[in-house]
Amino acid sequence: MRRILLWAARNRWLKERLPRFRWVRRATKRFMPGETASDALTAAVTHRAWGIDAVFTLLGENLTDLSEAHAVAEAYHGLLDEIAARGLDGEISLKLTQLGLDLDAETAFTLFDALAAHAAERATWAWIDMEGSAYTERTVAFYERARAKRENVGLCLQAYLHRTPADVQRLLPLRPAIRLVKGAYDEPASIAYGRRPEVDGAFVALSTQLLEAVRDGRARYVAATHDVALLERMARFGTAIGLDPARMELQMLYGIRLDQQRRLSEAGYDVRALIAYGSAWYPWYMRRLAERPANVVFALRQMLP
Ligand SMILES: Cc1cc2nc3c(=O)[nH]c(=O)nc-3n(C[C@H](O)[C@H](O)[C@H](O)COP(=O)(O)OP(=O)(O)OC[C@H]3O[C@@H](n4cnc5c(N)ncnc54)[C@H](O)[C@@H]3O)c2cc1C
Repeated sequence: MRRILLWAARNRWLKERLPRFRWVRRATKRFMPGETASDALTAAVTHRAWGIDAVFTLLGENLTDLSEAHAVAEAYHGLLDEIAARGLDGEISLKLTQLGLDLDAETAFTLFDALAAHAAERATWAWIDMEGSAYTERTVAFYERARAKRENVGLCLQAYLHRTPADVQRLLPLRPAIRLVKGAYDEPASIAYGRRPEVDGAFVALSTQLLEAVRDGRARYVAATHDVALLERMARFGTAIGLDPARMELQMLYGIRLDQQRRLSEAGYDVRALIAYGSAWYPWYMRRLAERPANVVFALRQMLP
């Protein structure tokens, strides 16, 4: 089921047709508050009341024309102004292919750097999502360059990739900000762990190293997972090495395990919800279904009139 859904996420024919149906769009409500920035900002205001801050992402990836990258950057600049206008603690997270990495890497860098500068003026952060393995090396190198210029930039790394421990070692001397996830793409066994216990083991090993770096002021670390058992192991380790819950950052996706997000925030952890919006939601939404095939049943139920 996971393989089929990940295949469907990449299928151009389905991508062009499925989102046209209103009953398909209705099913996305599970993971996104709506398609507009205003929908996302309104959701963030509600989350703030629960003690949960936000990371915003405008959905879209693998553009075909550089003018789209400029439009994406403009949209993020507008969003940064809106976040500040509403007094929210909101960061942004984006995909480099959404800024045209495939078309012109230099333009992608200029656009990202301007967004990071704007985020710095607003005292917030700009994060880089991690995409499929064809982009890993380019994305890590891009981050090294961005981090050399600015403090308020972060990078997502995927625990399922065999290379990630080496990437963490490579980045630690830069005092990086790292968001660790399990990994959402269909990767071959030669480069990624496929079985859940292996991925979880890698996640724990990397988390312990990164929490020590947080304690020593050598990194910012965000654990981004809905796996509460893993988060609890991590929290126990953090406490054992003397970290206060407020210095342990956790992120989950909007709409998933809200009860846990609220519980963890009440327990004093620094919790953010990643709030996605935009009309180009199809591949992102299919990857969310693939993460938990039970969501397909939920989606089908929403599609019924
Ligand atoms: C803030 C954030 C940012 C992310 N950024 C990236 C990125 O840049 N690149 C990337 O490759 N991946 C990214 N991901 C996705 C990540 O790689 C995983 O695919 C995703 O988080 C599911 O794995 P899990 O860690 O929740 O653990 P799992 O072992 O998959 O799930 C643990 C439990 O959480 C619940 N759960 C998990 N997923 C869902 C779901 N979709 N719906 C309902 N319940 C669910 C289930 O109860 C499940 O038993 C991000 C995830 C988060 C939370």
